[in-house]
Amino acid sequence: MTQPFQLTPELWVLPSRALAYNAGVLTSAGQVWLLDPGPHPDETARAATLAVSLGRPVGLVLTHSHWDHILGPERLPTLPVYAHVRFAETLTAHQAATLAMIDRWEQRFGYVRAAPFRPPHLAATFQDGQVFVLGNLALTLLHIPGHAADQVAIFVPRSGLLWAADTLSDNEIPLVSHRLDAYELTLARLAALPIQALVPGHGAPTTDRAVIRQRLDADRAYLDDVRRRVVRAISVGASVAETVAACATMVFRSPVANAGAHRLNVESVYLEFGGEADATQVGWAQDGLIDE
Ligand SMILES: [Zn+2]
Repeated sequence: MTQPFQLTPELWVLPSRALAYNAGVLTSAGQVWLLDPGPHPDETARAATLAVSLGRPVGLVLTHSHWDHILGPERLPTLPVYAHVRFAETLTAHQAATLAMIDRWEQRFGYVRAAPFRPPHLAATFQDGQVFVLGNLALTLLHIPGHAADQVAIFVPRSGLLWAADTLSDNEIPLVSHRLDAYELTLARLAALPIQALVPGHGAPTTDRAVIRQRLDADRAYLDDVRRRVVRAISVGASVAETVAACATMVFRSPVANAGAHRLNVESVYLEFGGEADATQVGWAQDGLIDE
């Protein structure tokens, strides 16, 4: 389904036709935030149209600096853009790969831009635990690194809504493209929240608390298994290829579609825990590679 739908009283979800991606429109008492609008231009426009129909758009929130989440601001230049305090430095660190991915995306669909992509100018940044008021709704911004250093989630205590950025997908495994230790802490923190409605950056939103619990448990078990196998491999002097082989029998969701991501996770964790390998050739940070 790609039609916009209202998941909770305050949130509309706009599924993209690409990447199982979700954008959002959050509204309360006539004020509206756009969440990660995009990645197709018509989808950004659709989000803006919906936002205007619901009230007065007052801001655009970017959950993290990955290429598919940051194309909205240049298409909606009048909206103030908000992101985590580490957004600019994280984007700068991955700028070449990000620009290459945007270029590849636009060439694939024949999008012609009037000017080169420029990183969003942030009207303000926020820190972990900061509370924003939108209309009469209090929103808590949570820094949830592990997939990206600057990633944030939005939690609405009143309704139990979690806008989860690129965590808790039902079709992806956790993409450990920042750090495993940070991702583990992030999931421990999310597991302590009374989540009633969940929207992942990629995958199916749900209001089923059993499903939410299953995703959390499966992702935590997966990361725990990666950690244990990689630590054991490094302790016996295994190479990165041997460590990948030691993780080949692991069980995780959609094993065919996620096989490449799993290998990159194992390679990245091997490097994170002190394994010796060429970081330009293996793992999520290798040359020429960037995830979504
Ligand atoms: Zn991402």
